[in-house]
Amino acid sequence: MLVAVCAGIAALVTALGIWRGRRLRSSVGVLNDDIDRARRVLDGLPDAVFSLDARGTILSANERAARLTGRSIDELLGRSFIGFVSADDRDDITDRWKRLRLDVNGSPEGPQSTSAVFELIARDGGSNLVEASLHPIGDEVPGTVVILRDVSGRERTSEALEAARRRFQQAFHSAPTGMALVRLSDNRIVDANDSLARMLDHSREYLVGRSIREITHPDDLRISAAERARIELGIDSTYRIEQRYLRRDGEFVWAKTQVAVTEEDGVPLAITHIEDISEQRRAAERLSHAATHDSLTELPNRASILARIDELLTVAEPDEVAVLFIDLDNFKLVNDSLGHAVGDELLRHVAARFRSVMRQGDELARFGGDEFVVFVNGVTQQSDNSTGEIRVGPLDPAKVAERLRRSLHDSVEIDGHELVVSASIGFATNSQRGVVASELLREADAAMYRAKAAGRDRVARFDVGDLLTQRDGASSPLRVTSDLRRALAGEEIVPYFQPIVDLTTGDFTKFEVLVRWRHPDRGLLTPDEFLPIAEKAGMMGEIGERMLRDALAQLAAWRAKDHPFGRCALAINLDAQQLGDPQLLPFVEEALGMSGIEADALWFEITETALLTDVAAATVALRDLRGLGVHLAVDDFGTGYSSLTYLKKFPVEAIKIDRTFVNGLGIEVDDSSIVDAVIRLGHSLGLGVIAEGVETPLQLSKLRELGADSGQGYLFSRPVPATMLDARVGVDVPF
Ligand code: C2E
Ligand code: CA
Ligand code: CA
Repeated sequence: MLVAVCAGIAALVTALGIWRGRRLRSSVGVLNDDIDRARRVLDGLPDAVFSLDARGTILSANERAARLTGRSIDELLGRSFIGFVSADDRDDITDRWKRLRLDVNGSPEGPQSTSAVFELIARDGGSNLVEASLHPIGDEVPGTVVILRDVSGRERTSEALEAARRRFQQAFHSAPTGMALVRLSDNRIVDANDSLARMLDHSREYLVGRSIREITHPDDLRISAAERARIELGIDSTYRIEQRYLRRDGEFVWAKTQVAVTEEDGVPLAITHIEDISEQRRAAERLSHAATHDSLTELPNRASILARIDELLTVAEPDEVAVLFIDLDNFKLVNDSLGHAVGDELLRHVAARFRSVMRQGDELARFGGDEFVVFVNGVTQQSDNSTGEIRVGPLDPAKVAERLRRSLHDSVEIDGHELVVSASIGFATNSQRGVVASELLREADAAMYRAKAAGRDRVARFDVGDLLTQRDGASSPLRVTSDLRRALAGEEIVPYFQPIVDLTTGDFTKFEVLVRWRHPDRGLLTPDEFLPIAEKAGMMGEIGERMLRDALAQLAAWRAKDHPFGRCALAINLDAQQLGDPQLLPFVEEALGMSGIEADALWFEITETALLTDVAAATVALRDLRGLGVHLAVDDFGTGYSSLTYLKKFPVEAIKIDRTFVNGLGIEVDDSSIVDAVIRLGHSLGLGVIAEGVETPLQLSKLRELGADSGQGYLFSRPVPATMLDARVGVDVPF
């Protein structure tokens, strides 16, 4: 186009000369208009344009050409173009120009263009680097159009870039902290510095080319993946975490890791700074040890033993945990008559005696003063490390207590004093579920008082505990399984419904179906109280079928009554067992058919963990389900190992953010940023995002701000029976 305009101008200029001679005044007027128009086009161009005659003399030039050479257009006209080319480049340009002219006249292929880069001399003696293209024009009046583009700025930038790259390389390799460049697309280490190699006791060659995941502690993969997802999505450009890296000897180094993203030749790279903080961590561990241990005996202290017992109680079956409360009988006397130093020494001796008869898995703590606590752990059935006398058969805290009591019978010699000390011990076991550490301790303490009252140096079991244990045969796994079979045959296993709310409109759009067991003796049981056992007994399929059938029937009933909930969808939970069951698909099809509900109104929720249990099987099962027309959501998102890629593999349409993340929304910075990332990630993959466990208005407003699509939680409604939901129509949800 440009060349055509220039060629036009050159022809016009020539023609003008001829026509002027003929004095065709009116034609000249028209032609002048044409020239003006062409000139304006040329002057508006970002490039400098010259047209040259056959000898290389400048016939015309545009504004840009004038600016680049530092002369006016008039000054340029009539000059030889080659005079503006720097001496060094002159021969080359002349050469090219000649060849171009030759082509016009001689080559059968017709005229060619040529381009070159050279220094253009300006009036002030300076020069600009230009990129030139030369185009031959005109057959009858041969000439050349030269187009120049100033590239000196561009050149300077690339020189600066090169210098920056050199500086970076230098900084990288001489940095005292470990550094690695990691390609974001596949996690491969593109470069690593000597400090990192030293830290991990590997060579640089070993590290380069390896995946950073290979040298990351498995437990740290999840957190680093979450952070990297934010980077990949462009939400953050940098992050900082503490994580562990694998050394050659198999040990792990704790390191503060800071990652920033850069790009090299269009490839996104993570610049990773890795600073060894093992020593700091050790110092922190020493501190935390001091906070959780008694400095006199080095035993765990009161706070830490209570926490441990509580932790154990949450997973323990009844009668699996016992707490022993130990009080020394005549310690006060020793302390008062022989002084604190001797008292302290005696306590250390007692602790050592106790410790020497402890079984693995049990724990001893100093509770304060002359009180000790032992918890006897029947949950983990590890083998006995000592004589085997104690850990034979089921949990027997009385034997443990006896052994501890007797361990004090031999006298202790301190500072020349021969001391005899004895202990009164009370114990209690967790006779039912839901017992907490403080309750057990109270019971053990009460029993200890009875032991003291009965004459000291003896063991007593808490009384009411005896009564409770008899009742509790009901919860043994065996009983639960047969109970559950009976329950499934009857009306005890029922669906509860929890609404899922559209966060823009506040409407109920879906109900999650959650199983409950109306146990005749034990009251209403939640899934965590029987699903683990059902799973072990392979009964998940039956429960799932029951839920699906009942929930579909409920939806059909709502529809029959023209109830507004009839327009909502249902969300049913599927576990790994059901997902792998070949009967699932035909059953779903049949249940839909029988209820008359269309597949579109049905969602299945599958946890990340279930999806990852057997990816191949899950892929097939999900594709089949989706093929029916039902919808799929990933449940508890964020608790498994979530990677961007696997989500794309499955035909899922929504993700449910686990409530542990929603919990800290607006309070915990980390949680907010994870929820933010998950929402963006979900949306970027075209998925709907549902937040679970919305309990407070603050969480709700935060979620709406972050753009979550739907929410579910106690703030809107607890899971309730369908009959209770009916009453809720028209009740405003908190918005
Ligand atoms: P889930 O699928 O993550 O279900 C959500 C759980 O969060 C429910 O517990 C619900 O009561 C609870 N929840 C809802 N909103 C809130 C809230 O605001 N705060 C708190 N703290 N909790 C909230 P639920 O009913 O005890 O169910 C526990 C798990 O049992 C479910 O987790 C699901 O994985 C499983 N489950 C329940 N019913 C079924 C079922 O029919 N089939 C299968 N396969 N699994 C089920
Ligand atoms: Ca669920
Ligand atoms: Ca969930």
